[in-house]
Amino acid sequence: MNRRKFINLSSLGATGFTISGFIPSIAKNNSVNPIVVATWDAGLAANQAAWKVLNAGGKALDAVENGVMVTEDEISCCVGLSGNPDRDGHVTLDASIMDHEFNCGSVAFLERIKHPISVARRVMEKTPHVMLVGEGAQQFAVSEGFKLEADELSKDAKSAYENWLKKSEYKPVINIERKKALSQLDPSLMAPHRLSNGEWNHDTIGMIALDSFGNLSGSCTTSGAGFKMRGRVGDSPVIGAGLYVDNEVGAVVATGQGEDVIRVAGASAVVEHMRQGKSPVEACKFVVERIRRIKKEKAKDIQVCFIAINKKGEAGAFSLHKGFNYAVQTKDGNILHESSFLD
Ligand code: ASP
Repeated sequence: MNRRKFINLSSLGATGFTISGFIPSIAKNNSVNPIVVATWDAGLAANQAAWKVLNAGGKALDAVENGVMVTEDEISCCVGLSGNPDRDGHVTLDASIMDHEFNCGSVAFLERIKHPISVARRVMEKTPHVMLVGEGAQQFAVSEGFKLEADELSKDAKSAYENWLKKSEYKPVINIERKKALSQLDPSLMAPHRLSNGEWNHDTIGMIALDSFGNLSGSCTTSGAGFKMRGRVGDSPVIGAGLYVDNEVGAVVATGQGEDVIRVAGASAVVEHMRQGKSPVEACKFVVERIRRIKKEKAKDIQVCFIAINKKGEAGAFSLHKGFNYAVQTKDGNILHESSFLD
């Protein structure tokens, strides 16, 4: 699907939508009109699953889990087990989830589990912890009944990896070679980067929702930066960076260069700007501008994007560069929007 097209999956019109945000229609009978927003065009299908929950009067937490599970099941370069591997040829997954009461859970560097988002939810609900990583996260998932999938790459990921190996003249980074190799590492190879067609090579699915009870939740799941160093963890499982929810204020999720989102505690920073009265789009823009100031001329090599909704059900998004889109589902339809951007 072409990301640059505006797509309306509903038979109804797109009233209330603008390039920079969504203003909700007035709720009837004091009930709250639910809304769900998700990153990239994969967000359209994810929203449909989330909407089934929200439209039936279900909870935002269930909606954001069910929604992103759709993307985890799809063939994708950047989400779930079909995603691109790390430099050593293994797919490692990061995911997080947060509800309206500051409950949160996440997994990072998780291998061979199909639905990391559901493991993140189990971490939240069944352990005293917030985050489990690597082998421990996998052990926990298996103990919770999750199936250990085969350690193999999808057809697309295999050919992408083989291609990458050729171009990067990859050599394993071990022991004595490590320091040298680290200093030679081209960040644009392991991090999300612009492809020759102008697109960006990453597609984390992040989702935020407001349910009819007026409660917010969010979720985020990814295979992270393609061909990253083994053990690399991005922003997506880091609560406050890739995802943050404060039920008094709003919910925010990030996609793009995880390292630069972590640096500014991105999602949490956007929530704080909404708390101070900024609209979702203004709050996202403020943090994107901050990242650009920090990165200086290097900002041209990275993409960073945020989506946000506030307690009133207003939605907005902002990205560093052109090319980010996001899907907004309300009772009026499921619509893909081009995000506003700095340059
Ligand atoms: N933020 C993700 C990460 O850095 C990547 C992405 O959103 O594409 O792992």
